[in-house]
Amino acid sequence: MTRGLGAVAQKSLVLAGLSLVGACGTAEKPGSRAAGGLATRPSILLVTLDTTRADAIGPEARGIETPAFDALAARGRRFRQAYATVPETLPSHSSMMTGLYPAGHGVHENARYLSRDRPVLAERLREAGYRTAAFVSSFVLARRFGLARGFDVYDDELPPGHAERTAQDTTDRALAHLDHRSPQPLLLWVHYFDPHAPYTPPEPFRRRYANAPYLGEVAAMDEQLGRLVRAFEERAGEPRAIVVVGDHGEGLGDHGESQHGNLVYQATMHVPLLLMGPGLTPGVSDSPVSTRRVFHTILDWAGLGAADSLGGGGQEVVLGEAMKPFLSYGWQPQVMAVEGRTKAILAGRLEVYDVVADSAESRDLAASASLSRPARTALRDYPVPALEAQRPPDDLSEEERRKLASLGYVSTGAQPAVRKDAPRPVDMRRLFDLLDTASTLFVEEKYARVIPLLEKILADDPHNLDAALRLATAHSVLGHEEPALAAFAKAADIVPGSQDVRTYLALHYVRGRQWEKAAPLLERIVTEEPDRLPVLEALAQVRERQGRLEEALTLRQKVYGMRAPTAAELVRLGEMAMNSERTPLAIEAFEKARGQQGNAFAHDLELGVLYLAARRFAEARDALDRVPSSHPEYPMALFKRAQVSVLLHEPDQAARIERATERADATTRELIARERLFRQTP
Ligand SMILES: [Zn+2]
Repeated sequence: MTRGLGAVAQKSLVLAGLSLVGACGTAEKPGSRAAGGLATRPSILLVTLDTTRADAIGPEARGIETPAFDALAARGRRFRQAYATVPETLPSHSSMMTGLYPAGHGVHENARYLSRDRPVLAERLREAGYRTAAFVSSFVLARRFGLARGFDVYDDELPPGHAERTAQDTTDRALAHLDHRSPQPLLLWVHYFDPHAPYTPPEPFRRRYANAPYLGEVAAMDEQLGRLVRAFEERAGEPRAIVVVGDHGEGLGDHGESQHGNLVYQATMHVPLLLMGPGLTPGVSDSPVSTRRVFHTILDWAGLGAADSLGGGGQEVVLGEAMKPFLSYGWQPQVMAVEGRTKAILAGRLEVYDVVADSAESRDLAASASLSRPARTALRDYPVPALEAQRPPDDLSEEERRKLASLGYVSTGAQPAVRKDAPRPVDMRRLFDLLDTASTLFVEEKYARVIPLLEKILADDPHNLDAALRLATAHSVLGHEEPALAAFAKAADIVPGSQDVRTYLALHYVRGRQWEKAAPLLERIVTEEPDRLPVLEALAQVRERQGRLEEALTLRQKVYGMRAPTAAELVRLGEMAMNSERTPLAIEAFEKARGQQGNAFAHDLELGVLYLAARRFAEARDALDRVPSSHPEYPMALFKRAQVSVLLHEPDQAARIERATERADATTRELIARERLFRQTP
């Protein structure tokens, strides 16, 4: 079922190039605006609406009023069959920013990183003379995940302790940016996150939509969309172009899914898409289109090539995927293809729906409908991601993990058991909410509460490696030695030989009294995969306890090259380096800790001693002068300071020696008596 990396790379080339399948694919328009001068290129506003169902916004939406979107729709071109590439934020945006399906850009889930070698929209426009600015509203799109490339301004600042900000905050900031006028055209991307769970709309929408808080969030966001569009149209100059697009929808209970990410039905894949710009006739289009073509459309407006632009029409087989259940739990990979009014879903077996007559996808036509050859080929050849390439970055800090968890996105990153008879995600929907809750509790370190939930998941889905490893780790952290080992044994049964299981087991041993058992496990994993951060950290700890300080130091240096150390870790590194007489390394570590801690830094005595050893006397003097008289080893500071005083030929050296002698303790009294420097003083 899984394919090798080579196969995926090859397939991804196919998919990257695969764009318009069918009779009337768009070709490069002759005499396109590429030849046009700077002045004719429009400023472009791209607004992405997180978690917004196609049926929750616009003139046909029921139970909600969205006047700002409706007003734009009246002037623009609305695509009533637009589809996200993935029902998750980062992969979906990665498609809009690269024009590629996930197999092409490599991001199948949140908390991954868009590779630097994929050209992105903002880079292309900036090279062509555009000013570029982005204002995003969720940690899922923070700079560290790779979408900031090419933006002069990338505002991902969130209120302290929060993983998201409101459309109002984001709009305020975008509007402030619009005050900077310039003759250059502008690409402005604004991302709104409000409709994402939990649904807590502000007043008056909270009261107005008391029975439908999700719609209340959409309505509140629509109000900000109106403010943003008005300001853009007033200040951005002429010509102008606007895109408003959803990144994915929300289950709201359809097909048993409350949020998004696990399934590819209309609730989460069918999204709003609205364009207003040069060459577009107002109206509606009912051809299925992929939101990845936002990329091509904006390039077209900027005069950088019209191929695949939504302005050009053309039929395509629209593809989409939801690989999270496959990558996290080993369930069936899930792919969809939409052509005309027919949507096919392949996940273990084929489902076919007429999404125009049956938008609820309640009547499966697989037995009677026949798919076109391009649709069949696209589904059959869709590249399933290689599991080994899909581990989440393990340099996420605890804070970052908690932020992702607060938005419902976290996995252990362990490679699941993949089986031919793996369950179809839709058949496992009874577990979706339980899995999300367990995942959040685990990252919040509520281990006692998560254990019964994980047991329930495993009883229902006994091959779920993610749950087995979390159960083992929860027991391990709580010191339940036997249940932890039993859960590790169970995990090893699910995926025999799994490196992930060995890793988590080694981390378990490091935590407890049997830490020496971790050493051989960790050594073997490091040989297999030299850059696995938690493994390197654990091995550094083991080496330190074994008294193998040189190796511990080397490992720690490697770890801190991969992720930023905390001040406490820098202090520990400094102490270890000092004990191993690695003076320059020790100085560097302590100075970095001092830079982070400021006045709270309590190791100036060590620094003074190190600078003295390095014969950097002026720096030694400054460090020793910072040691407070309340320091438990203050007599030592006075002694060292007197030594430095002599070496610097300070006029008050005699007084300093006298003071050190007066305040001496047992240790320094002897040192002072033996100090030859002090005998030569005038
Ligand atoms: Zn999203």
